[in-house]
Amino acid sequence: MGEFELIERFFNRPTRHAVLGIGDDCALMQPEPGMQWAISSDMLVSGRHFFADVDPVALGHKSLAVNLSDLAACGARPRAFTLALALPEANAPWLEGFAHGLLTLADAHECELIGGDTTKGPLNICITVFGEVPPGYALLRSGARPGDDLWVSGTLGDARLALHALLGEKTLDPLALETARLRLERPTPRVELGLALRGIATAAADLSDGLVGDLSHILQRSKVGATLHAHALVGCMASKAALSNADKLQYVLSGGDDYELVFTAPAARADAVRHAASTCNVQVTRVGSIEADAGLRVIDQNGHPLESCATSFDHFA
Ligand code: ADP
Ligand code: MG
Repeated sequence: MGEFELIERFFNRPTRHAVLGIGDDCALMQPEPGMQWAISSDMLVSGRHFFADVDPVALGHKSLAVNLSDLAACGARPRAFTLALALPEANAPWLEGFAHGLLTLADAHECELIGGDTTKGPLNICITVFGEVPPGYALLRSGARPGDDLWVSGTLGDARLALHALLGEKTLDPLALETARLRLERPTPRVELGLALRGIATAAADLSDGLVGDLSHILQRSKVGATLHAHALVGCMASKAALSNADKLQYVLSGGDDYELVFTAPAARADAVRHAASTCNVQVTRVGSIEADAGLRVIDQNGHPLESCATSFDHFA
């Protein structure tokens, strides 16, 4: 199977929104009147972001999910994406599964594949997503203000727990492993929540590298600090595995790959946050607050500071 047959067979489908999709030198796109493009790229490298033998359907899903998660964090509506793919070989069953996982998620969000590039090489997947947002409504990292509440969506830490189990560093019973593994391999981008938080959240980021690291970006960009409540954080883990509270706290603070949102909103908008979350059927938890004092503090139920040992994941650390 040649390069063009491969593209034709697995990736070329009729487009609905794009002016011109796959097949020419460029795709052509027209934003809805008065909208801005929100654009983001994420690369997934074999052996670094996923195991080479991972289920191709799950890999296709996750490759797009991590990109849609960036649009969600900006409050942008997904429109289209490009796919740059390096493949060691043209393996039809593998491509079938990958395209199925990828395009099923794309269809669910009406996000069209409009182009890309295909080459032979070590397995590497780079996607660029294009979303739309009205001017002034994008959720940025720079908008958090002292007095804002700090929220997270969904559950945190379970993806990293699954990774530890798959690497043999942690033993989980089969059911606990399966639940955690779904969080690692099939993350749910919080696109609807991002849209519902437009005009309510003051700042947002998606959680790819762990809460401490991704929240730090918000704190730095907004020139503020934050206090996190340990008891609220411990409750954010989905896993029922027998873990100590200290272990849970560590997973929630520094685990990665959750693809949930961390966001801030004025304390007076707490009901609006809860309402937005319930309209999209997503759990949200208030885990702390924003303060003028720089830095990140974690306190226990009595308000006593905990020595924080958490760090985030940094590819070059
Ligand atoms: P170029 O020669 O400019 O690199 P190609 O011949 O590689 O373009 O690609 C032909 C068409 O197929 C282009 O429209 C390109 O966007 C599209 N395409 C290539 N690879 C992919 C892919 N993996 N997924 C979707 N579209 C692709
Ligand atoms: Mg090319």
